Amino acid sequence: MKINTKCIQSGYSPKNGESRQLPIYQSTTYKYDSSEELAQLFDLSKPGHMYTRISNPTVEAVEAKIADLEGGIGAMCTSSGQAASLISVLNIAEAGDNIISLATIYGGTTNLFSVTLKKMGIETRYVTLDMSDDEIDSLIDDKTKLFFAETIANPALYVLDIERYATVAHKNNIPLIVDNTFATPILCRPFEFGADIVIHSTTKYMDGHATVVGGVIVDSGKFDWTVDNKFPQLTTPDESYHGVIYTENFKEAAYIVKARTQLMRDLGSTPQPMTAFLLNLGLETLPLRIERHSQNALAVARFLQDNDLIEYVNYPGLENDDSYERAQKYLYKGYSSGVVSFGIKGGRKKAQEFMDNLKLAKIVVHVADARTCVLHPASTTHRQLTDTQLENCGIKANFIRLSVGIEDIDDIIEDIEQALKKVN
Ligand SMILES: *Cc1c(COP(=O)(O)O)cnc(C)c1O
Repeated sequence: MKINTKCIQSGYSPKNGESRQLPIYQSTTYKYDSSEELAQLFDLSKPGHMYTRISNPTVEAVEAKIADLEGGIGAMCTSSGQAASLISVLNIAEAGDNIISLATIYGGTTNLFSVTLKKMGIETRYVTLDMSDDEIDSLIDDKTKLFFAETIANPALYVLDIERYATVAHKNNIPLIVDNTFATPILCRPFEFGADIVIHSTTKYMDGHATVVGGVIVDSGKFDWTVDNKFPQLTTPDESYHGVIYTENFKEAAYIVKARTQLMRDLGSTPQPMTAFLLNLGLETLPLRIERHSQNALAVARFLQDNDLIEYVNYPGLENDDSYERAQKYLYKGYSSGVVSFGIKGGRKKAQEFMDNLKLAKIVVHVADARTCVLHPASTTHRQLTDTQLENCGIKANFIRLSVGIEDIDDIIEDIEQALKKVN
């Protein structure tokens, strides 16, 4: 099946007389005929659902669909994108270890890495875009467990050179984890370029309607966790499952099985069946929406670029953008998704004035849904970051993040035009 078909058909296929749409299994638990059978589930010697904190049939269908969309061997949905980021790291790193992350990432992830992971004893070493491969190599030691980056960075809109960073990571025997939230598997499937684990905030385009918060981790099944004895969490016995060794018992699915059976069991960042159902509805129309988001955003970026009141525009689909060549290489048809960032001449004050004058585009702490919306990261989502962190995320004081929706493009541009007139 082509990816557009998978968005509709994957994950759930009804048998004779069964519900056409994915059923919502609104149940916390599952019934078994014998205690012996249930015991086998607890030993991980038999697959099956036992408790919705760990798995659920509705959620499982959506996980199968997303794994198929990304070309992975398995996926695990989480209660939020943040939970996906956290579990993707904790699954292989622990106190005393360190991780490498591109500095140009989502502010919430920077907080997670710099504040909470630090408290848990995991150090994050940030890589800036100007660093050479040798400089990156020199940050990596035998306690380094992974390399983390975003396909299209939120909100800097830097398009990742996935092949380059995958090569650096693999040379050092560590996996590349890519947050593919902004691109979605419609525009980019990072596994095809060497990434090992993909995560998403499904809250964004995948849901697409600003309805449910969620996340997902997808495993390519390609990384060799036995290399160098570097990943004891996966290659030594888990006493909480009677000595199961994930790489021996679950082979290439070791990472994703452990994420569920150990970390989801213990952390409980579980998605609900109803939210999985809503996410699935969003996924059905993802290809149509992403195409329209991308076309509308390019038109907005071009309009802004030609306007005298605008200081700069970042959009990977613009020919003169720093990321243009990489967008052409890594993103389907060079489509660059729906987020455009730009700066208004006159600094922070003018930026806020412009936003206050928008009518169709609403000020919300959200991005990547069907409705056009706008945000001033420096005073909101990225408020906690230092000036250097802001700079690394590609954010200036007059920086506006516009999430272009799928409304009629004429209405979107007219709204921007009237707000710009009022600022001047
Ligand atoms: C929003 C976002 C997250 C966090 O996801 P939540 O669903 O809000 O927890 C992580 N990464 C990126 C790129 C995001 O845009």
